[in-house]
Amino acid sequence: MKNEWKQLLTDMLAHLFFPPVCPGCGRTVGKQEIFCPVCQKQLHLLRPGDTCPRCGKKTCICDKLHPLFTQVYPAGFYEGSIQSAIRNLKFQHQPGHFRPLGRLLANTLGRYHVTAADFDLLAAVPMSRKRQKARGYNQAALLARSVSEQTGIPFCSHALTKIRETKAQHDLSAQMRRTNLKGSFIADSAVSGKRVLLVDDVFTTGSTANEAAEVLLQAGAISVDVLVLASTRFETL
Ligand SMILES: [Zn+2]
Ligand SMILES: [Zn+2]
Repeated sequence: MKNEWKQLLTDMLAHLFFPPVCPGCGRTVGKQEIFCPVCQKQLHLLRPGDTCPRCGKKTCICDKLHPLFTQVYPAGFYEGSIQSAIRNLKFQHQPGHFRPLGRLLANTLGRYHVTAADFDLLAAVPMSRKRQKARGYNQAALLARSVSEQTGIPFCSHALTKIRETKAQHDLSAQMRRTNLKGSFIADSAVSGKRVLLVDDVFTTGSTANEAAEVLLQAGAISVDVLVLASTRFETL
């Protein structure tokens, strides 16, 4: 079967079993829509210039963070419909919920004037095995898979692994967050020579993305950029 037909059939089946829903509120939406009209009104998409191009924050934290990644592309701030969508990700893991967010993230790249051709590989911020077992899935990996479907950038699910259980980042101060994750990720040699696009849901202090970027670069990645649904306005949620 030709690839296009295979893709069409996969899309039709996915649509039949998991019709697209608004990631903000769960209402069924049309195939072309991402958010329903109600959530669309509470959607504010960011553009280049709205945040620091390097750290992706409204108020630059580059001096504190010393980013190892090249650039952050946030779809929006952690508020309104994007905030609701991120909260829903913790409980929903059907393709109907992740597919529209994959489209939102793919469109985000375009707003920042980058394309799929600028990256060789998608990686997701990993969860420890224990936490992933408890939740049943890693939402960053499901987002990355959806971005891959939309953009054609291959998703390498084993690019990053979390090898050590760490305290939940949201319970810690910004300073503690920076040290909490030290040595907790490893990167696969598959990233060597690749321009990596790292996917996550929220960008808060940037410590997680920075730790991931460090091990990816150590494993030979050429560059690491970060694509997220939301950047928080401050260094907390
Ligand atoms: Zn909605
Ligand atoms: Zn900055």
